Amino acid sequence: MSRQTKIVATLGPASSSPETLENLIRAGVDVVRLNFSHGKAQDHIDRAAMVRAAAERAGKSVAIMADLQGPKIRVGKFENGRVMLEAGQPFVLDAALTEPGNVERVGLDYKELPRDVKPGDTLLLNDGLIVLTVDRVQGEAVHTLVKIGGELSNNKGINKQGGGLTAPALTAKDMEDIRTAMSFQCEYLAVSFPKNATDMEMARQLANVAGEPWRHKPGMIAKIERSEAIPQLEAILKASDGIMVARGDLAVEVGNAAVPALQKKMIKMARSMDRLAITATQMMESMIVNPVPTRAEVSDVANAVLDGTDAVMLSAETAAGRYPVETVAYMDAICVEAERAEETRLDGSLTGRNFGRIDQSIAMGALFTAHHLGCKAIVALTESGSTALWMSRHRIRTPIYALTSQPLTQRRMALYRNVQPLLMPKLNDRDEALRQAEALLVARGVLMPGDTYAITCGEPMGHPGGTNMLKVVEVR
Ligand code: PGA
Ligand code: MN
Repeated sequence: MSRQTKIVATLGPASSSPETLENLIRAGVDVVRLNFSHGKAQDHIDRAAMVRAAAERAGKSVAIMADLQGPKIRVGKFENGRVMLEAGQPFVLDAALTEPGNVERVGLDYKELPRDVKPGDTLLLNDGLIVLTVDRVQGEAVHTLVKIGGELSNNKGINKQGGGLTAPALTAKDMEDIRTAMSFQCEYLAVSFPKNATDMEMARQLANVAGEPWRHKPGMIAKIERSEAIPQLEAILKASDGIMVARGDLAVEVGNAAVPALQKKMIKMARSMDRLAITATQMMESMIVNPVPTRAEVSDVANAVLDGTDAVMLSAETAAGRYPVETVAYMDAICVEAERAEETRLDGSLTGRNFGRIDQSIAMGALFTAHHLGCKAIVALTESGSTALWMSRHRIRTPIYALTSQPLTQRRMALYRNVQPLLMPKLNDRDEALRQAEALLVARGVLMPGDTYAITCGEPMGHPGGTNMLKVVEVR
């Protein structure tokens, strides 16, 4: 039985050779994340070309997700690269300071901070490891008291507990990076720190304009990592194609303890709105240095699978870790085992909802039929991929094979849970298309004589959104 949940892996120094990349893909990577917080434009262009080539060699559909840096709010640099802050000492974050910092004060790359905070606010530095309490704001200087100390080094991030930093979601660098990402037609574009639907609409518009020379429109992923985004979740989902449960920054803003319940809520809402969900950050963190994960990490990955996530994501584990390929192999095994334990009765989201579109009703009909007849597979002939997306929003053990003539659709579907994307030539004759679809799945060993499968297509053939036919077939 093949894995339903998809694996996203971040590229970095540990995974940017053609061999390692191919091994990662063969071990199970479905989506490669290019992190625009690091590296130059040309590095990403080179890596994207390497991903396409490695996917070709491995014979797999792999999508590329470009992840924009966003307005990460950071301290400046220090004279000696780092300082040691002690609990109880005063420390100043000074937007006007241009020289390197020391143990008393440091500059800021985010000049608006003094306007965004007031006495009593809690600031979290370095992913929450250092905690400062704002004492007073004087002009451009935020005077704080160190509540929890530790080592603070150059350019570490700053979060405000409970949210409220006003930095716009798209920086000038992000706009430049969008153009770079469109030049290699990334299938997905992830936006960091969006506050509301408008941030996502703006990013989508910029991406579509930059992609115009290639007629390329990427899938938009909203990284949910700000307090302000939580009450806006439904509107953000509506404006996006999917979300990332970005647990790193989110945990710092809302507190660690709130994150597991938010993860469940976000995944559930995304699925019910026909959107995608990626669960990210520290999933296999200890494998950055160890050859095996901790029990807690195994449970974390398994629980994300049971929550219904489309994909689980690796960050430093594959970008900078010692065991990138082993980490993916472990993750693959954990997902498969968790999926085996999943309950797969058809849920109320299918039977209790009204589906007003012909194509969507046919897709639901295929799920219902395949489930009740115990079909070996569901096969969707799809141009845009929407039939496969709708089918994949419901829990069913039957694997969905999505056959398309569009290479972009094929790669994009690599992120959809329980969808195996395959490429097929564009055909105008329905019977010929049905014959070729079956032949392809028999050749791949998915179907054997005697197996029953459900197949959907649209007549006339080849029109996106035209699915209007469901057929149940026994292989002869
Ligand atoms: P990042 O986003 O890795 O780009 O910070 C993910 C997260 O915050 O969890
Ligand atoms: Mn983040």
